[in-house]
Amino acid sequence: MKIARLIFNPLQENTYVVWDDTLQAAIIDAGNMSERENNVLEKFIADNGLTPVVAINTHGHFDHLLGVAHVCERYGAEFALSSKDEFLLKNAVTSAELFGVRSGAMPEKIDVDLDGRESITFGDTTLQIISTPGHTPGHVALYEPQSKVLFTGDTLFRESIGRTDLPGGDYSWIMRSIIDKLLPLGDEVKIYPGHGEESNIGHESMYNPFIVEVLNDEINYRN
Ligand SMILES: [Zn+2]
Repeated sequence: MKIARLIFNPLQENTYVVWDDTLQAAIIDAGNMSERENNVLEKFIADNGLTPVVAINTHGHFDHLLGVAHVCERYGAEFALSSKDEFLLKNAVTSAELFGVRSGAMPEKIDVDLDGRESITFGDTTLQIISTPGHTPGHVALYEPQSKVLFTGDTLFRESIGRTDLPGGDYSWIMRSIIDKLLPLGDEVKIYPGHGEESNIGHESMYNPFIVEVLNDEINYRN
């Protein structure tokens, strides 16, 4: 599996283009919003001979959605998002305005509901869907076990975590998601977050202050 990171929109959101030898591609969290950014994405896709078949979203925040309608229209790709984040999709244009971002069209409907779904496939690649509520109720992480690659969206960043003060956010949920569902995947698993640089689970278990705090508290509690 090959991965490219493109950084789009004023919120510096990571859009990942993911593909394999079939040259079918998934666009994870398409955040491209201007003509220039659309061109950057289209040029990358054309230069690599890719066919995007699905736009997969880790969650329904507007900065991760800004390019989805364009990708779906331009390439005929399907749109995958948990229906638990549909309320965010419906409010995405207004949310963007509150952040001073004038968005274009948003996708009108979810083609593939990731809520309760185990995996999603494009080309020869299957991404496991891990429900990770907390940043949003419908947030998912996407895991490819052969490459040991994990797309964490806004749940887990390098040495930080996503906000939990936005509508539908919950701090105890995000920490349970990280500690019970992501850390057990193993130290060597590489993390591709929704903002900022890559990391891996081992680094985060040692140096992520939010994780370290909860792990220390749990040890104290047990003792
Ligand atoms: Zn977010």
